[in-house]
Amino acid sequence: MREWDIVIIGAGSVGCCVARDAAMRGLRTLLIERRKVAAGTSSRNQFNLVSGVRYVVCNPEVAAECQRENHVLRRIAPHLIGHQRDLFVCLDHVEYCNAAEQNAKRYGVTLRNVSLDEATRRVPYLPRKIYKVFETDDTYFNAVRFCHSNLKAALQHGATFIKDCNILAMEKGKVVTTKGTFRTRSVVNAAGFLCNQVARLAGFKVEMVLNLGAFGLFKRKLISTGVQKLAPPGDGDAYKPLMKRATLGTTSVTVEEDAWEDALAEVRRRREEIVDYLKEKFSSVIPKVKDEEVLTVVAGIRPLVRSGDEQDGRKISRRFVLIEHSEWMLTITGGKLVTSRLMAERAVDVVCRHLGVEAKCKTADVVLP
Ligand SMILES: Cc1cc2nc3c(=O)[nH]c(=O)nc-3n(C[C@H](O)[C@H](O)[C@H](O)COP(=O)(O)OP(=O)(O)OC[C@H]3O[C@@H](n4cnc5c(N)ncnc54)[C@H](O)[C@@H]3O)c2cc1C
Repeated sequence: MREWDIVIIGAGSVGCCVARDAAMRGLRTLLIERRKVAAGTSSRNQFNLVSGVRYVVCNPEVAAECQRENHVLRRIAPHLIGHQRDLFVCLDHVEYCNAAEQNAKRYGVTLRNVSLDEATRRVPYLPRKIYKVFETDDTYFNAVRFCHSNLKAALQHGATFIKDCNILAMEKGKVVTTKGTFRTRSVVNAAGFLCNQVARLAGFKVEMVLNLGAFGLFKRKLISTGVQKLAPPGDGDAYKPLMKRATLGTTSVTVEEDAWEDALAEVRRRREEIVDYLKEKFSSVIPKVKDEEVLTVVAGIRPLVRSGDEQDGRKISRRFVLIEHSEWMLTITGGKLVTSRLMAERAVDVVCRHLGVEAKCKTADVVLP
């Protein structure tokens, strides 16, 4: 039976980045996905190339990491990234705004002051009474194509991908799946919000918090610039143009590990109520959103990792977490789309260390297909 150096579980943005990195370093790489590429949260999000501004007050180190990776992705994936930078609008959270400006300067996060004239030229629907407006490096990011591009690069470097393949059991040296048993020297668990379920198959545990987020998809976009509230992170604070349409999100509700499917079904049932709630929340920034037609509500589950006893999903850090369960298996999860490449780099560094391989990461320097 053929032996792999690395079996990666989950073809979301993180798993696809791990596959690309591992294959580029010459590892015999197998990526396994229970459904298809980007079947999980990587296709059910607001497609925002986060700059870190959103976290610059509550978690400036995470913000700085997002900003650095934002620049890396602009370099290696220019074809997946929009040109219009988002505006962050501060209505009346003066103290928060001042703290954001201070931290942005200190941690190298882009926050460029924009005059109210320029802001209203780009977004004619803004209210008259605004404290400040900033341009940031947040913009549109095609998250699904990002997964496919990483997978394509991995395949070009000799990786193998198997979809519709579920894991049944795992132990040191082998992974048993619905499509056969694979011998491997290491396993990387990149199963997103299902990381704990996968870790359990090998007798390990990950303290996951499943945080459901929902957003409305509008029939048309009002503007070509994304607009977000500069205020403590909350519900309904980001309006993002998406091709000819736009999204408004999100909500944040923590769900039990065994109840996520019911929670997603509940979102579909409460669609109207959620849309009205999000519109109400954002109408202080763009009152006109209240008149816009919403096609549907999309929901996904954020893979967050608890570090203390936080109950509120908004308060759980968006840092990523790498857990070395043993010398043959690790879990990489948390983070944001924008940090997927970096998460993969860290994970493959650990795998290479265990395998005694001395290849350097090249993913930040090579443009994606
Ligand atoms: C509403 C919402 C909006 C968001 N907006 C943004 C945003 O604008 N910008 C941003 O940066 N981030 C955003 N995020 C966060 C971001 O989407 C996630 O952090 C990211 O997509 C997680 O990627 P992942 O690869 O870890 O997980 P996933 O994309 O969920 O991938 C995990 C994969 O593992 C597979 N899998 C699971 N179990 C198994 C198994 N047993 N065997 C094989 N395969 C398995 C799944 O099918 C899935 O394909 C948002 C999240 C939500 C919920």
